[in-house]
Amino acid sequence: MLLKKYVFTSPPAGPKVLFLGGVHGNETCGVKALFKVIEKFASRALTLNRGSVEFIPVCNPQAHTLGLRQVEENLNRVVKNWDTPTTYEQHLGKELSTHIRCCDIVIDLHSSHCPQDKPFIFDDYPTAASRRLSQAQNIIYIIEGWPQIYRNAPIADFSTGSCAQTYGKTCLTVECGYHQSLQSEQTAYYVVLNTLLCLNMLDGFPSAPLKQQRIMMDEIIVKSSSGNLTHPYHHLDKISRGEILAVYDNNTNIICPQDGFILLPNAKAAVNTEWFYLGHLLEPKVVS
Ligand SMILES: [Zn+2]
Repeated sequence: MLLKKYVFTSPPAGPKVLFLGGVHGNETCGVKALFKVIEKFASRALTLNRGSVEFIPVCNPQAHTLGLRQVEENLNRVVKNWDTPTTYEQHLGKELSTHIRCCDIVIDLHSSHCPQDKPFIFDDYPTAASRRLSQAQNIIYIIEGWPQIYRNAPIADFSTGSCAQTYGKTCLTVECGYHQSLQSEQTAYYVVLNTLLCLNMLDGFPSAPLKQQRIMMDEIIVKSSSGNLTHPYHHLDKISRGEILAVYDNNTNIICPQDGFILLPNAKAAVNTEWFYLGHLLEPKVVS
């Protein structure tokens, strides 16, 4: 076994919830937040009402030690029950898939690389259960549609979310904010508490009466030749129909087709890689 798991249980029946941190080794907010929660359960500052809660705070131990995203490949593309794993991450992915298969709900905590990045949730396989859990979070933006965008892409998506979906489990991937910010660690910590509160596994109520925005990803824009974005766009910036988003060196424009959001823009994208995504608002409603 390569992974260290911490488990706390309570006799009354309840769900088995698995929290993951450090799937990418340079993302430490989930690692720190999970160790903080583990400490609180161990010292009985937190007491579980029912079910069981499991933590794997460091899902890629070598990459975490090295402070790198990965050792040989992206762990969040190889989480499945490999017959003959070869790379370090495939071994980890196989072990993770076993843990995912044995739980009911998976919450995978990540962070992102831009200081301006706002926290958001990937609800890749939305169900009533995943929507309820995402609505319990103190996070404004929830993004759906990632798997559909990649359905025809030549990229295998064996993420924690797709693994959970294969086994019929509920999964949210939470991007807690910028790698280096203290705020992202706080966000990760409250994701754990709000999840357990929402499931009545802790006493109290989730702290989430925020106006949330659920966004559907519509389109991936692959950079087909050299060119530039027209603004220093950030993830989740609002964009308007008719706005010129990018210009190729041959003077072709990419024009925003409808009011919505620009997602995950990469100003330095290489030719033939993902440049940015477009999305639109699904449910502009207040969650109470
Ligand atoms: Zn990540």
